[in-house]
Amino acid sequence: MMRTTMRTHGPELGGRPVTVRIVVVDKEMFHVKPSETGVRLSLAELQARIEATFGERDRTRGVDGTFRWWVEEVGEVAKALRRRDPGELEHELGDALAWLTSVANLVGVDLERAAERFADGCPRCGRSPCDCPGG
Ligand SMILES: [Zn+2]
Repeated sequence: MMRTTMRTHGPELGGRPVTVRIVVVDKEMFHVKPSETGVRLSLAELQARIEATFGERDRTRGVDGTFRWWVEEVGEVAKALRRRDPGELEHELGDALAWLTSVANLVGVDLERAAERFADGCPRCGRSPCDCPGG
């Protein structure tokens, strides 16, 4: 038996609703996954890529909905932390970062500029490592 369906997936394809073609052959499922290119991205490159890839969908969903997706992904990070699975942690942290980036795009925040606050260490005491009391 062979059956082809279109289905929308969530976390297993990077946490975003992605429509994939699933071909079912004798009860085996073959997911069409995005290729892994091995390309490394700076924060600015990630932000540009997220905008090009998901910007339109993010704008349609809106800030509130996109924020909720981000929070949901942070919940996935919590689960991965409990399971202590390094591969899963990398995957879920990547998802959370991508959704955070979508939120930043929607509200017009440049993440690299936002990160500048930490360029010289702790934004409060100015030291690295941080020397703030009670930290
Ligand atoms: Zn400090």
